[in-house]
Amino acid sequence: MIYFDNAATTKPCDEAVKAVMNGLDRYGNPSSLQGMGVEAEKLINAARNAIAKSIGAADEEIYFTSCATESSNTAIFGIAKTLGKRKKRIVTTSVEHPSVAVCCDELEKHGFEVVRVAPDGEGRINADDIISAVDDNTCLVSCMLVNNETGRILPIEQAFSAIKRRFPQAVTHCDCVQGYLKIPLKVKKLSADIISLSGHKIHAPKGIGAMYIKKGVRVPPFMRGGGQEKGFRSGTECVPLICGFGAAVERYSDTIAERFEKAHSLRKYLFEKCDEHGIHVNSDMECSPYINSIALEGYKSEVLLHFLEQRGIYVSSGSACSKGKKSSVIKEFGIAEKYQDSTLRISFSEENTLEQIDSLIESLIEAREKLCSTR
Ligand code: PLP
Repeated sequence: MIYFDNAATTKPCDEAVKAVMNGLDRYGNPSSLQGMGVEAEKLINAARNAIAKSIGAADEEIYFTSCATESSNTAIFGIAKTLGKRKKRIVTTSVEHPSVAVCCDELEKHGFEVVRVAPDGEGRINADDIISAVDDNTCLVSCMLVNNETGRILPIEQAFSAIKRRFPQAVTHCDCVQGYLKIPLKVKKLSADIISLSGHKIHAPKGIGAMYIKKGVRVPPFMRGGGQEKGFRSGTECVPLICGFGAAVERYSDTIAERFEKAHSLRKYLFEKCDEHGIHVNSDMECSPYINSIALEGYKSEVLLHFLEQRGIYVSSGSACSKGKKSSVIKEFGIAEKYQDSTLRISFSEENTLEQIDSLIESLIEAREKLCSTR
């Protein structure tokens, strides 16, 4: 089995699995005052500390959620609620993940003015375009760090730092899901007021996410009730998954540079092989090396995906979230129409090898020989 779908989700690492099991064993309710509760609370706080340390935040600035989608929904609707009565503009990009894009679409229906900054002719989002879209009437700027379909890295640090200097009242939110523990990320350097994180993209289990909210930034709770997470996110904490998240962060936070180097070598090899065999590459060397968009012109992505699957190779067509729907993001990036329907996303983890890339390329050549082209 060759797994090249790590942008969709990752295999939980051994440390995370062990930590989940430990969290299941320590089944006290973290809100209980007796010893078992205190023990469970300690486990949560250790995971909170690992995440805070990894992004240069204080422990009190980290809140656990069920996933990054919940984090982004909470941030976007929350800021719209607190600041949106007087300030009606939201600045975002046209290439956001649906967990951000759909929230902005919804607010637009309720009277917000949403400005979606699009990539230039080279497929790059320019910091100046984000900055110049912000004005005194802007309540929120929400832009992703790494695009989940092409791996494009957005100039968030450049954009957000200029925005915070000129419009300190505008809240900056960044969906950091595909960049976290893959490229360097410190919240202060990024000038982000809020960020969204997901466990399952970094070898922790599914169903656990987190939010960083800078001290002093007010976001109202999305879920109300028993007042867990300092009243911000009610509901008994999922101790096992939080433990798994913390363990994965502990495992991967000190090896960002070396894993990046490895992903970079894999990507370089993939691009060389694609070039050698006439397979088009949509991404480029400025993108995250973990996410690579390629296209075998004339062959539908979904047909290719199943052809590869029969050979034990797992990839995505565009993004896993688009579930076979034509991705508007691929089009937004200016990828030529002839490649849009035949795009595959090859996303790496540290477990992938050059030999696996050879197998992928061999299978794509075989697909070209055996399948009917639409060209
Ligand atoms: N943001 C990006 C960029 C993603 O790639 C994903 C998942 O595909 C999400 C958000 C959603 O993450 P979660 O599954 O934790 O809600």
